Amino acid sequence: MPSPLRHRSTAMGLLLLVTLLPGTTTLANPWPGFDSPAPGPSAAIGAASNGCLAGARALPAVGRGFVSIRRERNCFYGHPVLLDFVTDLGASLARHSDRRLMVGDLAQPRGGLMASRHVSHQNGLDVDIWFTLASSATEARRETANHRDPPSMVAPDGLTLSPHWGAEQRLLLKTAAEDWRVDRILVNPAIKQALCETERGDRHWLRKVRPWYRHDAHFHVRLRCPGDSPDCQPQAPPPAGDGCDATLAWWFSDEARHPARSKPQPPAPMPAACHKVLEAR
Ligand SMILES: [Zn+2]
Repeated sequence: MPSPLRHRSTAMGLLLLVTLLPGTTTLANPWPGFDSPAPGPSAAIGAASNGCLAGARALPAVGRGFVSIRRERNCFYGHPVLLDFVTDLGASLARHSDRRLMVGDLAQPRGGLMASRHVSHQNGLDVDIWFTLASSATEARRETANHRDPPSMVAPDGLTLSPHWGAEQRLLLKTAAEDWRVDRILVNPAIKQALCETERGDRHWLRKVRPWYRHDAHFHVRLRCPGDSPDCQPQAPPPAGDGCDATLAWWFSDEARHPARSKPQPPAPMPAACHKVLEAR
């Protein structure tokens, strides 16, 4: 890893270079190069899809009830509230099971756009958690080595659930959705549909479980903006109700299943507070 100083001058040089090249539309992305968080108080800045993170904390490789996987991606940093959430979800699983959560990407040391150009996870409030549970850290690492993904919870028809789905997965999702820190959780539409059909009693938590593309082997948790982060930009809240309605049915339409290619949009300007995070030594 380059030193932050060398990294910064290299990144700035590249940024300048691509800005000067006529007809160039892709800017260099300086965020993946950082190997340390920006010092100072923790703050989530901007939006999940255009933001950054100050004073990040690193998720430990292993904790009670969880294993952090794919550490080589350097995406195991988050706002402290995100680390607390993962820690609490692992502890709650550990109270009734010997198995462990497999925790995937959080954010890079300073957040921002990932090298994979995965657009969210930028402000330290997003985490990917696999539906499959592991019996040990060793098994978790073995099962996800060489970019191998744990199995899908959705059948090949895209409409129903696979045999891998069960009571453990439902409880995991419900526990996460009922957490007050959670803003929303993205899952495959088939998973949401199955919950809509089978949940009895209190269905209030279904509101936070939102359908989205893929997300059939892992779910994506997004937290609310924490109180210590005035520059954090919240997403509009999910509509009222459990979401088991026409908006869910749309996901099974031809239009949703074969989406037309959308034109790439020019990137939104970076939040002003992220310039400091980019430049902090
Ligand atoms: Zn995600």
